[in-house]
Amino acid sequence: MSSREILSIHIGQAGCQMGRELWELYCLEHGITKDGYLIKESELEDIAFECFFQETSCRQHVPRSLFVDLEPSVIDEIRRSEFQKLYHPSTLLADKEDAASNFAKGYHGYSLNSSFFENVSDSIRKQVEICDHLQGFFVFHSFGGGTGSGYTAKLLETITQEFTNRIPKFTFSVYPSPRLSSVIVEPYNALLTTHTSFDYTDCSILFDNEAIYDICHNLLEVERPSYLNLNRLISQVCSSITASIRFEGVLNVDLHDFQTNIVPFPRLHFPLASYAPCLPDANVKHESLTVPAITTSVFDPATQMVKCDPCENKFMACCMLYRGDITPTDVTNAIQKIKNSRKIRFVDWCPTGFKIGLNHQAPSSAPDSDIGGVPRAVCMLSNNTGIKDAWTRLTGKFDIMFHKRAFVHWYIGEGMEEAEFSAARENLAALEKDYEEAACDTVDPVVEKHI
Ligand code: GDP
Repeated sequence: MSSREILSIHIGQAGCQMGRELWELYCLEHGITKDGYLIKESELEDIAFECFFQETSCRQHVPRSLFVDLEPSVIDEIRRSEFQKLYHPSTLLADKEDAASNFAKGYHGYSLNSSFFENVSDSIRKQVEICDHLQGFFVFHSFGGGTGSGYTAKLLETITQEFTNRIPKFTFSVYPSPRLSSVIVEPYNALLTTHTSFDYTDCSILFDNEAIYDICHNLLEVERPSYLNLNRLISQVCSSITASIRFEGVLNVDLHDFQTNIVPFPRLHFPLASYAPCLPDANVKHESLTVPAITTSVFDPATQMVKCDPCENKFMACCMLYRGDITPTDVTNAIQKIKNSRKIRFVDWCPTGFKIGLNHQAPSSAPDSDIGGVPRAVCMLSNNTGIKDAWTRLTGKFDIMFHKRAFVHWYIGEGMEEAEFSAARENLAALEKDYEEAACDTVDPVVEKHI
């Protein structure tokens, strides 16, 4: 069977650290040891996971991944970690000097004519060549870092030019929070990378560090969440998004299904992710984790990966990815309950948009994880016009600095022009407007009355 592979590329500190947690979780879920061997050979019957792991001739399962950073410390930690033997050494790529939190340095400074960039491009090419039928690229990065913003934008551009536009590119992007980072220029980096990668990204799932911090603190009861805690939660969400690609199932949703159902217009490609249940292990047995209960939870802003208000705005599409011991009837009833409650509104040009995925593989939870092991969970990916609030927050911060041209000289010094800042700002203003227009009713109520 051809496996329709996914290649995951982890870029910069945030991208690589998220990747570490995610691959450890994948190994746990598929019964793969720290050095890549199946714990039980019988598990081979379900080979769907081969789209994420390549099996070698000595039966080792190697992640179809690349870890890329412009400075060595994070990659060195992976090389020294318990999972060091899992990864192919040639897929852990680090250069010597970071991008100094500067989009321009990541985009122009390192990429052009650099042997490291060639090295990374070659590695991507090799990974693509060992696939039978590449289904898509998953790119993990931060908006705020120099590598995460600039280098990612350059790589996405290169991948698109080299491997045709037809292979979808999904990004998993850390949205900056001042509570967790001291990088002042993050709004610049975030806008510049979004603007530059707009045409090279098919779907972009945002992880707002502030929202994730609050889930860890308020729901998972972690007193002072660290990046490790945040990344573990992000991994659970990513694992739910990919479960139906990695495990066989009757109601699986593949990448094309996601895109077709979630992205009604190419520019509006930023789904909002929510996840339930988020509970510490000690609370799991005391909670009602019925399908209606977890379904209602994902409509609660407290379970969202980005801070915004979907119920005050309109849904364009909603993809519910269930996993665990759940029947289709449970799901139908739970969704009907949501529809009857009239808490949520859909745009009038797409009034019924629920896409359902159901996979019987329950989530896994490592013994030291903050998230308790549960028999069932749901991740909702919705396209909601309220996500524009995330852009409004960023553009507001961008404007305050750019009004004074503060820090702009650092970007000019690395080969950028000031006009690129204005172009990025205009593009994001247009995006906010696109969301507003999408929320407008197509049928004028006055005209409708006279018909
Ligand atoms: P880069 O290596 O130059 O891309 O820089 P970083 O990835 O460190 O980017 C800085 C941004 O990423 C800031 O907003 C940080 O708060 C965030 N960040 C850094 N490391 C992590 C991480 O491990 N997890 C998460 N969720 N965010 C991170």
